[in-house]
Amino acid sequence: MAHTPLMPIPGLVDPVPTPRDITPREDGRVDLLGLPRQRIAELFEAAGLDAKAAKLRGKQVFHWLYHRGVTDFEAMTDIAKTMRPWLAERFVIGRPEVVLSQHSSDGTRKWLLKTADGHEFEMVFIPDADRGTLCVSSQVGCTLNCRFCHTGTMRLVRNLTPGEIVGQVMLARDALGEWPKGSMAGLDDDEDEGGYSADGRLLTNIVMMGMGEPLYNFDNVRDALKLVMDGDGLALSKRRITLSTSGVVPMMVKCGEEIGVNLAVSLHAVSKDVRDEIVPINRKYGLEELLQACADYPGASNARRITFEYVMLKDKNDSDEDARELVRLIKQFKLPAKVNLIPFNPWPGAIYECSSPERIKRFSDIVFEAGISAPVRTPRGRDIDAACGQLKTAAQKLSRAELDRLAEEKQAALG
Ligand code: SAH
Ligand code: SF4
Repeated sequence: MAHTPLMPIPGLVDPVPTPRDITPREDGRVDLLGLPRQRIAELFEAAGLDAKAAKLRGKQVFHWLYHRGVTDFEAMTDIAKTMRPWLAERFVIGRPEVVLSQHSSDGTRKWLLKTADGHEFEMVFIPDADRGTLCVSSQVGCTLNCRFCHTGTMRLVRNLTPGEIVGQVMLARDALGEWPKGSMAGLDDDEDEGGYSADGRLLTNIVMMGMGEPLYNFDNVRDALKLVMDGDGLALSKRRITLSTSGVVPMMVKCGEEIGVNLAVSLHAVSKDVRDEIVPINRKYGLEELLQACADYPGASNARRITFEYVMLKDKNDSDEDARELVRLIKQFKLPAKVNLIPFNPWPGAIYECSSPERIKRFSDIVFEAGISAPVRTPRGRDIDAACGQLKTAAQKLSRAELDRLAEEKQAALG
């Protein structure tokens, strides 16, 4: 194995400060996107409604906002006509701004989005035969600097707020045109947990695998996913949501207890030397500690296995011995596990190459023969730079004129 000197861990490795959940707008109105029922009701009360009315209106607006995807108070038909302008004067229901959207020839869609304070982040939608997966970002950039990851080369700008996180799911639903229609009555049974099956639905699954480390933005990710899972909110089952972490060990139990979604762990290496080099958080929380936290993950079982992500890097982590050691570790810690082998997606300036298809197949066979599922993830959206962190950079390279032209096209398409 070639020896590569260790890099110091750049940037912050501890949770970063987050802005408040309510960012004041210039026009004085408050954006309700990302707020829970209770908070919406409190704001209504603070604006002058009595407690009982505030609670009722809060519940109604919550439903329209998250379950029906409505952004205009005028469309909230069970709220009195006179009440709607009162709401519109004081509140808005926003969305992250779309800077660019791209459609790949394989159906993958990618959006470059912008926060109200001007920071760009990404989301990707990947349709398959039996599911449609939205890859959601949790931070603008990332502090963790994994060496094969393009996002790791970006400076962390800030954590995304719950509104900016849940806003990605809302925006995808807008773009896919799949908000439930019909009246408020009778929504509950077929659209609660399990209702968003693959049948006829485009967006069926969510993975927290976009930009950023979700467990370094725990509270906001939890609050956003609660809105996604709420039966009267986006109503997506926790079984259809997967959170991916590079291994923030102290937050993993909390993730299982307070969010309860499926866990994916970016393992990528099975020895201290290699993992220290390519996933530098390993120097803080080592392999044994990480695998023990996986063994202790609340809710993990054979029916809900932990996914180990393993990026295939030529001559770095892809030998037969690596595959056998991976199997040994999974068995030693008695982990209900599946392995997801990810062909490395190169980016300009990356110091690694992807393993050959034969090497990846051999690695997969060794793990599979030991009784552990080890599919190779098919690269998607290659023609639109759909890998983590790449659209943002690609867009920065577009000339101003091109961006203006794209904005005009978007405007024209919106009519
Ligand atoms: N920060 C979290 C989630 C975002 S990264 C984490 O690290 O788990 C989502 C997944 O994409 C991780 O498994 C990451 O290792 C992988 N990834 C990042 N850059 C990649 C690249 N260039 N090629 C292949 N996989 C990559
Ligand atoms: Fe951050 Fe995940 Fe990329 Fe590592 S792989 S730099 S944790 S986004």
